[in-house]
Amino acid sequence: MLKDKVVLITGSSRGIGKAIALKFSSLGAKIALNDIASQEEDLKKLVQEIEAQGKIAHYFLSDVSSLVKVEEMLQKIESEFGQLDVLVNNAGICKDRTLIKMTQEEWQQVININLTGVFNCAKAALPLIVKNQGKIINLSSVVGLKGNFGQANYAAAKAGIIGFTKSLSKELGKTGVTVNAIAPGFIETRLTENMPEEIKIQIKRMTSLRRFGKPEEVANLVAFLASDKASFITGTVIEIDGGLSI
Ligand code: NAP
Repeated sequence: MLKDKVVLITGSSRGIGKAIALKFSSLGAKIALNDIASQEEDLKKLVQEIEAQGKIAHYFLSDVSSLVKVEEMLQKIESEFGQLDVLVNNAGICKDRTLIKMTQEEWQQVININLTGVFNCAKAALPLIVKNQGKIINLSSVVGLKGNFGQANYAAAKAGIIGFTKSLSKELGKTGVTVNAIAPGFIETRLTENMPEEIKIQIKRMTSLRRFGKPEEVANLVAFLASDKASFITGTVIEIDGGLSI
């Protein structure tokens, strides 16, 4: 059902975004990869990996926190593919620190990339997505629902994504476009690999399934939400956290 659909995944050179790209391409979708310039080598390798499977992918360097750059990217995607069916807002960063030590720059950077980046991409992609009755899927986090020690900036951004998702789903309902968010728990990527070992053990103990999730498990949920099987789901937040938030 995703065959020949065009899917843009932001921040897709590695981690969850890369797993989503590989999942969609395995289902026959055409992939628009995105990341910042420093990730170009990884993007090139991923394009080669997807092409080696006989599938189509192109990469577009752009910083999601800049509306101008995101608009340029969407123009390039339109000339390359002629359409856009699915937008996955995945790009995100952490700058963890308790509020007493957090600088305004650390606050702003996380808000600019994680939250304003979602606004920028949805805003620029809207005409193409509406034209094809497409789907928008935003990566929030359990931290956006529950908060987390040392992550006031990240939690605020991820909670903001939830409000944004619900509002946009109401605005776009009449067009047939669905807008959903997912809230992963702790997933094995570079974002979590440098966490202190004792914290990792503590989190696993609090997670019903006693482990971190895999990027591929998140990708399966995103692919479901992008498919026609999820045609009556909009404005929701689906937790994918091994039971952490129970
Ligand atoms: P990751 O491995 O760090 O991948 C994120 C990607 O986004 C990186 O390639 C990163 O590039 C890129 N990126 C950063 N700033 C960008 C920008 N301005 N424009 C475009 N791309 C940019 O992280 P991940 O764990 O896969 O996380 C993916 C998403 O899931 C994020 O939104 C994250 O908040 C969310 N999430 C993750 C977890 C988890 O446990 N891993 C849990 C809940 C939610 P650089 O490497 O150069 O920064």
